[in-house]
Amino acid sequence: KDAAREILERVEDRSDNRLGVEAMGLLEAYGIPMPDGEIVDAPEDARAVAERIDGDVVMKIVSPDILHKSDIGGVAVGVADDEVADTYETLITRARNYQPDANLLGVQVQEMADLDSGTETIVGMNRDPQFGPLMMFGLGGIFVEVLEDTTFRVAPVSETEAREMTEEIKTAPLLRGARGRDPADLDGIVETIQRLSQLVADFPAIMEFDINPLVATPDGVAAVDIRLTVD
Ligand code: ADP
Ligand code: MG
Repeated sequence: KDAAREILERVEDRSDNRLGVEAMGLLEAYGIPMPDGEIVDAPEDARAVAERIDGDVVMKIVSPDILHKSDIGGVAVGVADDEVADTYETLITRARNYQPDANLLGVQVQEMADLDSGTETIVGMNRDPQFGPLMMFGLGGIFVEVLEDTTFRVAPVSETEAREMTEEIKTAPLLRGARGRDPADLDGIVETIQRLSQLVADFPAIMEFDINPLVATPDGVAAVDIRLTVD
């Protein structure tokens, strides 16, 4: 909890109250699994991180001014070691073109999540003026807008409630392993909903929090991207 507090206190000095992957430490503090990754501010450092991480990596622009990174070409998936330095420059250039005065914190170099066997889900929280903190669960990626397949519970959520959330969305059969797919790690999703619920209960200043996507594979879950607003 102290580690999380430190991360959130750093926000208070900023003019901006939005945070992205630079706040992944919050997840770590609450035991929510995520892919290996680091934020760097030089191409050679990006290269060093990519070499440490086995296989291709994902690279993302990190800026509080860029909320939807892929919209501006700020996410590069499947980057090989020898492309890392060039990709770093490309991402910075795209961000500068998009908004010349954007506050660029660097580039995140991240381990690839297994999207072949995994499903992109969303776990989120929004403070409702009437009900207070509402936890949200749904299918992520492109599905979330198309299907609007989401479900809500007032936080804090019990294990039973979190499990119900994973069972009651329309696309639940997909997570259970429809059409010969391996079932996703539902326990991992349930635990993530509960842990995020705990985090936002501990820090009422967090107004919104989205893990999108939380990739759920048969072997576990990984929070690949986050976005939050702090009051
Ligand atoms: P944003 O939501 O700001 O556009 P994301 O980090 O969510 O940025 O990346 C956009 C998409 O890129 C994700 O929904 C996912 O499909 C893919 N992606 C991002 N990071 C990874 C990763 N580590 N492994 C596999 N796919 C990823
Ligand atoms: Mg995202």
